[in-house]
Amino acid sequence: MSAPFDLVVIGGGVTGAGVARDAALRGLKVAVVERGAPGCGTTAASTHLIHGGVRYLLYDRLTTHATCWDSGHIVRTAGDLLTRLPLLWPVYRDHARGLETVETLLEEYDRFQPMKYGRPHLRLSAEACARLVPGIKTEGLVGALSFDEWWVDAERLAARNLDSARAAGAEVLLGCKADAFLRDGARVAGVRTGGRDLRGRVTINAAGPWVDQVARLAGARLPLRLMKGTHLIWKDPKRVPVGLLLEAEDRERYVFVIPSPLGTWVGPTDLPAAGDPDEVRTTPEETAYLLRSVRRYFKDWPETPDSTVVGSRPILGQPGAEKLLSRDFEVFDHETRDGIPGLLTIGGGKMSDYRVMAEAATDAACLKLGSSARGTTQLTTLGGESVGEIPDWPQPCPRLKRFLRARPRLRELHALAYLGAAFASHLARRIAGRRPEADADGFRRHYDEGRASGRPRPVSRPSGG
Ligand SMILES: Cc1cc2nc3c(=O)[nH]c(=O)nc-3n(C[C@H](O)[C@H](O)[C@H](O)COP(=O)(O)OP(=O)(O)OC[C@H]3O[C@@H](n4cnc5c(N)ncnc54)[C@H](O)[C@@H]3O)c2cc1C
Repeated sequence: MSAPFDLVVIGGGVTGAGVARDAALRGLKVAVVERGAPGCGTTAASTHLIHGGVRYLLYDRLTTHATCWDSGHIVRTAGDLLTRLPLLWPVYRDHARGLETVETLLEEYDRFQPMKYGRPHLRLSAEACARLVPGIKTEGLVGALSFDEWWVDAERLAARNLDSARAAGAEVLLGCKADAFLRDGARVAGVRTGGRDLRGRVTINAAGPWVDQVARLAGARLPLRLMKGTHLIWKDPKRVPVGLLLEAEDRERYVFVIPSPLGTWVGPTDLPAAGDPDEVRTTPEETAYLLRSVRRYFKDWPETPDSTVVGSRPILGQPGAEKLLSRDFEVFDHETRDGIPGLLTIGGGKMSDYRVMAEAATDAACLKLGSSARGTTQLTTLGGESVGEIPDWPQPCPRLKRFLRARPRLRELHALAYLGAAFASHLARRIAGRRPEADADGFRRHYDEGRASGRPRPVSRPSGG
């Protein structure tokens, strides 16, 4: 029997929604099944940042590079869902990382910022920081650095990708769980959802942290290193006037404080969470840890959040310590991997590179379908308008990225080598002459100019593979 669909997609998080849009725009007949609402899984539990991940510069530089690269496409195509969110990183005398180290990190981040229309960092005095954030602890405050990110309405990002897919002819089934795979012998031939069979020539498993559960329905396994993350939420959207990155109470990790239309979010935690992602819960210890971390800086911070949100990061199975896990993604072909034709899985990654993940998964499906249609999701906004000229930023070398993913120590050394060189030249510049520190008005002007002028010009070419 011929299949009514070229492609059946499981999962309507940002990744599955991105796949559905990409494939529908290529002219494929697409169905997507989501057991809940668009983006209701990890996407909704994320910190809602379109960012490169400053901290990956410490151990996974190529992920920062790759994610900034695709974030630029997201800014161009989904700009109406994004708000510029400059973050302040206050530094205290007793912090594990001092001003020069943090500034070196942000100078390196500046290399990638132009890819995603981010403004360069600023160095601020303690007084300027205290003026920008009334109520923040001033004892021991030695200054602050700022860096630029985007806040995104994450669930709408998934929903709008699905709308775009629907407009291009895709069938979008919400509240429909893929209960089983349809089989033609060994071949996966679509999914069964409720009483309905959706026959497809290729099926893509884009179920985020549930990809292993879904793969098991076909008799395959996809071990992940799931890491759960909790945010505490206070309804007041402006408990702080600017976003913050604060050293947490363990002095190893950092927590964001994000003012947003969804309230003020504090988090996330980052803890191993093997097992069923549906069983992941916020523990009292996590709540207490986040509260203690924010109350280190704001002694009047209210003790009881209005709500909490928790989700599991869908990190690929890989060797190495938890704090060194790579956020890289991969498309798995279950035909070559497990002898199951007709099934692909897209795993890993971040919301900030969902578009290129979707493109890679759809490329793999097109190869199987014998279609030469190319992805066009970078060319038009989610509303269907042309994005205009696209800057030609280099991507990181895919072979090096793959090589380093399996070698956490080498990956860390690769990142630290860049930081070491950057630190040496940062110190030389500091010795040669202090750069002026920005005051509170300078901070506001710097980021408001970024908003007004839309897309600042690139300042330098990034390096790093
Ligand atoms: C705490 C935390 C903070 C994060 N912060 C950020 C951030 O700020 N920026 C960033 O870029 N990334 C962030 N991430 C990572 C990012 O959220 C994820 O990489 C991304 O949202 C994954 O999207 P997804 O579509 O792959 O998965 P999901 O959003 O989980 O989507 C998978 C979907 O599949 C559905 N599904 C599962 N099983 C079935 C089935 N059998 N049938 C039908 N549907 C099914 C689920 O309902 C779900 O909606 C964060 C992650 C966490 C946990």
